[in-house]
Amino acid sequence: MVPVGRADRFDAFRALADRRGRPGDRLVEALDEVRKETANSPEAWAPAVAGGFGLPAAAALGPARYYADLDVPHGRRHVRVCEATACFAAQAGRHLTDVEHQLGLPAGTVSPDGETSLQAVRCLGYCYAGPAALDRESVCAGPTLADQLARREPPRAPEIPVADDTGDPVLLGGALAGEPPWQVWPRMVTVGSPDEVQLQVAASGLRGRGGAGFRVAAKWEAVAGVSGTVVVVNGDEGDPGSYADRLLMEADPERVLEGLALACFACGARRAVVLVRSEYPRALARMREAVGQAYADGHFGPSVHGTDTVLDVEVVEGAGSYVAGEETALIASLEGDRGCARPRPPYPTERGLWDAPTVVNNVETLAAVPWIVSRGGEAYARRGTLNETGTKLVCLSERFARPGAYEVEVGTSLLRIVTELGGGLKDGCELTAVQVGGPLGGFLAPGALDVPLTTADLAARGAALGHAGLVAFDQSAAPQEVLRHIWQFAAAESCGACSPCRVGSRRGLDLASAGTPPGPEWERLARVMAEASLCAFGRRIPPAVRSLARAYGGRLAGWGP
Ligand code: SF4
Repeated sequence: MVPVGRADRFDAFRALADRRGRPGDRLVEALDEVRKETANSPEAWAPAVAGGFGLPAAAALGPARYYADLDVPHGRRHVRVCEATACFAAQAGRHLTDVEHQLGLPAGTVSPDGETSLQAVRCLGYCYAGPAALDRESVCAGPTLADQLARREPPRAPEIPVADDTGDPVLLGGALAGEPPWQVWPRMVTVGSPDEVQLQVAASGLRGRGGAGFRVAAKWEAVAGVSGTVVVVNGDEGDPGSYADRLLMEADPERVLEGLALACFACGARRAVVLVRSEYPRALARMREAVGQAYADGHFGPSVHGTDTVLDVEVVEGAGSYVAGEETALIASLEGDRGCARPRPPYPTERGLWDAPTVVNNVETLAAVPWIVSRGGEAYARRGTLNETGTKLVCLSERFARPGAYEVEVGTSLLRIVTELGGGLKDGCELTAVQVGGPLGGFLAPGALDVPLTTADLAARGAALGHAGLVAFDQSAAPQEVLRHIWQFAAAESCGACSPCRVGSRRGLDLASAGTPPGPEWERLARVMAEASLCAFGRRIPPAVRSLARAYGGRLAGWGP
């Protein structure tokens, strides 16, 4: 019996898009252009955009109603306020109400004269200085956010505090010490070989830094020598609490692109796509600029550094969806579809972007590759722990006394990161819980932080490494409100492709909002979501909620450890 995979089912929209020249991201881009000009809902304008590509109305209405950037009304002044976890923790969630009050608008609406619109988003990557907002493309951040948006105070856009804790940074050498990029690729492409890159990365034990932790060399191996392979850079860092990829894309985009070039070389890929989330406009501009310069300097193009290596790289802007950071959903969004997760198998390395074998690597993963190839895989493997090698960027949220991005050895004690690097909490506040690894990670009580920062050790404590964002909570955030916040995130960001998560996340929000104590209803919901959801998003929400209950213990009304 032959298993029925996605590509074996007939998909009328995909077949039609194929015949119409695969508009893909051009469709989403065209929708975004029209959206900027109107405060009307997508039903009024998306069908005409679809018609321009020779597609039925539904082919454009699907993505236009799915992506937050396209669905919400836009005024001439569009304000995006972050309501993700670190900004929530900064003022116990009060900032959104303050901003709504100051602008005289509920989130998700536009003023009657079409002048101002307000959108709540998750997340803008200013977790170290929140709460934060983008006023058009200008950043406002900090405790006086509402006053900044009301233009009673000048906007504050603090840079990311950055530090190295390793003594020999793999990732921050460019950002901190000005180590020049492009020291490896010209030599490798002219006198090296794809096997050499692959061998060094295999020896390094490098794992994907986007959350799943899959061995990078195994992914590359799966496509090596298969023609038509595409490499996709996942710059859709949606995990609230993490801004590591934003830092790398803004401060050292060339190192990410050099890692990408080496990845394409090892995989035999002639084409790459870099997706950068729309919530990171500065990173998007920096990546576009760096790609243009890389072409001008001969690192990319039809004959890289005079060789027969061909490498074409394009940069695409995301449209606002947390789940689109999952690799199959990312591919769907690049095809111009709703950014929903797809069943696996087939895996992207077998059938990915428009059915081509596709490797998806995140920004931080690729930024480590030049160091590995230059210094050798074994040198990288000596870093970190035996089973989980190398270094990792950890991001500390605004509640810490010294928030910022730190490069640490994998396996560094979480307690040390919180107390020594982060300096505990600011203003003498009491630490009540730390969320580790984003919404699909978990919460740890202050007494449970003596754990090495590895995937395995964190999993044993009911948390996850994820992107290694650490969001601290103090006594100002009521445990019941934190619980509600988690379910609100789940309900808002569930892609809706499978019922256990689509219905379950809304039911969880209802139960949390009603203050329903633990019991059979919660248990049934948790079991269905954890066992039957299609992707990690739905499966990981129940354990994250359980970890929250453990971290807060008796302080979460009716919930025991
Ligand atoms: Fe989408 Fe949630 Fe199902 Fe994942 S688990 S496919 S996010 S509905």
